[in-house]
Order: sequence, then structure tokens, then C-alpha cells
Amino acid sequence: MVSLDISRGNAASLTPVTSAVPADTRRPLVGLTRAEIAGALNAIGVADSAVRMRANQIWHWIYVRGATDFAPMTTIARDLRDELARHFTLARPEVVDEQVSSDGTRKWLLRMAPGVTGAPGPEIETVYIPEETRGTLCVSSQVGCTLTCSFCHTGTQPLARNPTAGQIASQLLVARDALGEWPKVSAPTDAALPRQGRLLSNVVVMGMGEPLYNFDNVKAALAIASDNEGLSLSKRRITLSTSGVVPMIARCGAEIGVMLAISLHAVRDEVRDQLVPINRKYPIATLLDACRAYPGLSNARRITFEYVMLKGVNDSIADAKALVRLLAGIPAKINLIPFNPWPGSGHECSDWEQIEKFAEVVNRAGYASPVRTPRGRDIMAACGQLKSETIRKRAKERRAEQAAGAG
Ligand code: SAH
Ligand code: SF4
Repeated sequence: MVSLDISRGNAASLTPVTSAVPADTRRPLVGLTRAEIAGALNAIGVADSAVRMRANQIWHWIYVRGATDFAPMTTIARDLRDELARHFTLARPEVVDEQVSSDGTRKWLLRMAPGVTGAPGPEIETVYIPEETRGTLCVSSQVGCTLTCSFCHTGTQPLARNPTAGQIASQLLVARDALGEWPKVSAPTDAALPRQGRLLSNVVVMGMGEPLYNFDNVKAALAIASDNEGLSLSKRRITLSTSGVVPMIARCGAEIGVMLAISLHAVRDEVRDQLVPINRKYPIATLLDACRAYPGLSNARRITFEYVMLKGVNDSIADAKALVRLLAGIPAKINLIPFNPWPGSGHECSDWEQIEKFAEVVNRAGYASPVRTPRGRDIMAACGQLKSETIRKRAKERRAEQAAGAG
């Protein structure tokens, strides 16, 4: 794995802190489509007439039964299982760390398998947020982010990697492992879990990274998440959040077809240019045009506009009024997000009183319960805080190592 220096503008500081491990040359099957699995089976000599059926069986074992290797696949003859195990792997990413917040939110730090060169795999954070009637998994679409939104900690870390479809989809599998949400496995008794419905019922692509900059892999991973004969999450329970990569928004609707969230955060270009720098390329009017044209948009399928509350920056009553004017005519939900602080951000969260006044304007315009309660702040798992704790810990470890070496 690599350790990233969190200081802004220090993009070159990639410091390897662990040595390479022997490469596993077996091909991962998680993340492939059924047709790709069939192709892979064909390539190892499975007969044409059998590949489709075998691909379906393997798919079922992975995504319905939660198999992590071929041994339990009793619908497949033992010889073939052995052959599959020689060529392919279903190994999960390694759970390097798990933190549980006082509010039940869980954050997992996952280390992906090493590449074929033996180079350490990337590390990704995934967050599980249990509520009364649903359990939401916040998945990461990139390691770090190339965009530099001024209030987001992830944005202070240079992009290291675009995870593969399998690495993105694996975040769901690991979460279901930890929640015991597979047939014949029971849920942990010590975890905060929804009282009804599925334990992992919703997915938000709101972790580290800009999903529309890793479009193909995110698309493939979400196709797996919503596959009816697999994880079968409804696309209405999957939300992808973008900072506003306008040229990809129409494709997101047409090809991925999940719910869309837009990180708006400001109502004037001068302010948004500062907060969300991609606005200089795709200003507010252009962004909202793309939203109006979003495929499938209706009152039943609204776009969520996220608005982080920053003291003295975007939280005036005039801003609130401008916000509802701006969104008039777009089937929308508004999510006000109290700013989650991190060291050195230079921003403060708006006063609660101000958030309430702002929310009142938004409520009066017909948008219900818009303030998002911060979850998992104590474990740095809240919006925009991801990766930071890990990085800090690593930096501290590195300094300690250097000090020990120097001594
Ligand atoms: N890159 C995508 C998705 C990941 S960020 C995007 O920007 O939309 C998920 C959400 O968290 C975004 O709305 C983002 O603006 C918000 N966010 C980032 N940093 C935050 C912070 N420190 N406090 C509150 N919300 C934050
Ligand atoms: Fe990247 Fe989203 Fe953070 Fe902006 S808010 S830096 S786009 S992860």
C-alpha cells in the first residue's frame, strides 16, 4: 500500500511503506459480467455448451450465497471446482481496520489484493450507516480525488488509483460478510442494525472520489449491485453523488440508471468556483440544465441537491431563498449537510440556529426534512472525512519509524 501525504499540493509525496508481497496470478471473478465469466471459463477449456450455465452457477454462488472460494460450490463437479480454483480467485479485500462509532456507524478500511506485479493493492474506506428501517453503505469510487473541493478532506489527497469494478463491488460483499447477511449465516449480536428490512438495503456512492471520473468501473459495479439474480438492490435505493461532471450526467442516467445527487453547495458561481472548483469548467446554469435533462427524472424520481452548511460562506437567508428559486421546476430534494470539520480545513460549520433558519426557508418552499444528521463523526466516517484518520495514523507511524531509524 502507499501512504499519501495529506498536505494540499503535495501530489508527489507517495511513500511506499510496506514491501511487495508475492503476486497472485489468478484472475478475480468478482466484478466481471456473466458474459465475461463465461469467456473466462471458455478460455480454460470449459465446453461452449456448458459455459453459460456454469457462469450462472458461479454468479449465484458469489452474489446470492456469498461464496469466497470454489470449494462450497456443490452444484459444480469437484474436478471443475479444483480447476477453477487454480485459475480464478474470489478472495475478498483484506479488512485492515474496523471502527465502530458511538452511533453504530461502522467504517472499514479495506486493502485490495496486490496487483499481478506484486505491488500492494490500494486501500479504500467503506462506511455502513444503520438506521431504524434501512442500512446504507457508503462506497468509495476512487482512492483519493483529483478534485479539490475546499471543504472536503478526500480532496486534499492526490488521486492514487481508480479501483476496478470488482474492487468497488467487493465493498458490498465485505459489508454483507461483516453483517452476516448471507443465507445460513447470522448477523452479529453486538452491532447496531436496522430493525426491519434488509441489513444492507441502500447504497450511496458518496465515499472517496468522483464516481463519474471512474465511470465504467462504477457502472459495472452498480450493475452487479442491482442485478435481480444477485445482490438485487433496487436502482431506486442506489444514489450516485457527483460534484458536477456535466458531460457524464446524461450517460449516468441512461447507462447506470440510479438516483442522482448533485453536490451543489452554492447558489452563485463566484462562491461555487471557490468551494467546488469543477464549477469553473461547468458552471451552475450548465449543471442545472444537465439535471433538467436527466433521464427518468420525475416527481417520483427526484434529484437530491446536497448543500454543505459553511459558516459565513453559503448559509445566509438570501442564499436559502436563491437556492429554492434556482431549483424551481426541477423535481428535487434538498439535503442540508452540517459541515464535518477536519484539521486545517479553514471552514467552520454554520451555527445550528442558522441551519434551522435556512432549513425553514427550504421547508416553506415544500422540501421536507432536509438536514442530514452527521453520522460517525467520532471515527472520521462522516461525509468528506474519509481516509483522513488512516492517513494521519500512517503519517504518525511513518514519523515514528523514521525517528526510530534515525536513532
Ligand atoms: N465526489 C462526489 C461524491 C463523494 S463526496 C461528490 O463530490 O459529490 C459526498 C458528499 O459529501 C458530497 O456532497 C460532498 O460535497 C460532501 N462533503 C465533502 N466534504 C464534506 C465535509 N467536510 N462535510 C460535509 N460534507 C462534505
Ligand atoms: Fe472529490 Fe467529492 Fe471531495 Fe470534491 S467533495 S474533493 S469531488 S470527493
